[in-house]
Amino acid sequence: MHVDIISIFPSMFDSVLNSSILKRAVEKGKLEVKIHNLRDFAEDKHNTTDDAPYGGGAGMVMKVEPIAKCLRNVEKKKKGFKILLTPAGKKFDQALAKKLAKKKNLIFVCGHYEGFDERVKDYIDEEISIGDYVLTGGEIPALLIVDAVMRLLPGVLGNEESAKNESFMDGLLDYPHYTRPADYKGKKVPEVLLSGNHEKIAKWRSEEALKLTKEKRPDLLAKANKLSKGVYICP
Ligand code: SAM
Repeated sequence: MHVDIISIFPSMFDSVLNSSILKRAVEKGKLEVKIHNLRDFAEDKHNTTDDAPYGGGAGMVMKVEPIAKCLRNVEKKKKGFKILLTPAGKKFDQALAKKLAKKKNLIFVCGHYEGFDERVKDYIDEEISIGDYVLTGGEIPALLIVDAVMRLLPGVLGNEESAKNESFMDGLLDYPHYTRPADYKGKKVPEVLLSGNHEKIAKWRSEEALKLTKEKRPDLLAKANKLSKGVYICP
């Protein structure tokens, strides 16, 4: 997958893209990320990318011309699915991550200040929000989405099964995990996990996932029930 990110703070991406699984994905050639400094596309000698809002009020607004120009430049090399990061967008979740993982090229536009001139939307395919709260800029949302999407790409995680069995992949939360020691200060690992009986372990895990989802996220269970026309029966 090729990802272009348009930002006025390109240095914000360095440490995240150079660590852990994202770094490995880049090294393995599964992911290619290019950061574009929006200021390079400003149309004045001060590299201005924002201006005061028409109608007055607090804060500055990201101008349309540098963004349109930068997108044009990016797409001269590679056309992509263009995402505007905004609290007003479609809420990001695992289903949207799966949808984005099918695209070959993604382009993210990161905002700042009060957000974008409304006319920026004319150049965009999808507006996405990472949740109902406001951050100072779109860089963390872009990295969050790249991380969630990239780990769904074949060959990125060490073990293909990891992504398949995680929370939200089947509409439920993940089952509880344990590792050594088998007894920690009297708190014992459930017997079934030590039994070596894989059928029983799989059954225990799916029951626990269901129990946990019912307890912590009944909203997910209701959705899963609806989708599977009642295959999951609330215990
Ligand atoms: N005035 C905007 C509002 O009230 O919706 C908030 C702008 S925010 C301070 C600046 C930029 O951060 C946004 O343009 C967007 O790119 C990014 N941003 C902030 N919160 C976000 C969220 N929940 N999801 C996606 N992007 C977000």
